[in-house]
Amino acid sequence: MSEKLALVTGASRGIGKACALELAKAGYDIIVNYAGNAEAAEKTVQEIKALGVEAAAYKFDVSNKEEVDKSIAEIVEKYGRIDVLVNNAGITRDGLFMRMSEENWNAVINTNLSSAFFVSQPVVKVMMKQRSGAIVNMASVVGVSGNAGQANYSAAKAGLIGLTKTLAKELGSRGIRVNAVAPGFINTDMTKDLDTSKFTDFIPLKRLGEPEDIAKVVKFLAVDADYVTGQVLEVDGGLII
Ligand code: NAP
Repeated sequence: MSEKLALVTGASRGIGKACALELAKAGYDIIVNYAGNAEAAEKTVQEIKALGVEAAAYKFDVSNKEEVDKSIAEIVEKYGRIDVLVNNAGITRDGLFMRMSEENWNAVINTNLSSAFFVSQPVVKVMMKQRSGAIVNMASVVGVSGNAGQANYSAAKAGLIGLTKTLAKELGSRGIRVNAVAPGFINTDMTKDLDTSKFTDFIPLKRLGEPEDIAKVVKFLAVDADYVTGQVLEVDGGLII
């Protein structure tokens, strides 16, 4: 067991999985949270263990405060500390604003924004006792720029940016840094149904991002960037310069 533990929400697939592997390479034991895909979560755990650190999968719905509280209590009981939290789990329920159902609004706000409130509160309690910790919130460029067809998602991601800056101000004196990454279009299950060929024209670097492109920046903010807090780093190939 190493002395550093990172909790990555939504780490069974996509960007979260890449973040978990990158933090494992930096020597962190990893808690792999997931919602339902146990097979993918177990595969991530095995890939992390192959890097020489510990890993365990924890199934809990980040939008359900009771489940979150129970799981974080178990994690703290077992490991005693949490050094890095990546609030990454997220979903989309896209549609034009005037046709958006209350159900799709609430699903995205709860999973992508309230989740960060639910998960961060008990984790920050632990970090405050340690007088150290780093949180990275997975925002999106559309939280900065807005996006037609994604009112729920853009509002949630903009909310995460506000939460990031506020927590940075509240928690800096306790040795806790809080930053956000705002990815552009990244090759994952979330974007697999989009016709992404039409986007590459607008991206100065002329390609979609890969999960590893995001993971490197998350690791930088979580581990290396000792004097950086309250920042939102756009990792989008130049999409919204
Ligand atoms: P993805 O491939 O669809 O993976 C989503 C992950 O989140 C999975 O591990 C999933 O677990 C987990 N998850 C979903 N709902 C959850 C819940 N209620 N509780 C716990 N875990 C939950 O998505 P991704 O593209 O990697 O996106 C990851 C994050 O990056 C999201 O916050 C997304 O908004 C953000 N982002 C993505 C892009 C992009 O272009 N892909 C761009 C900007 C921002 P299961 O495997 O168990 O379902």
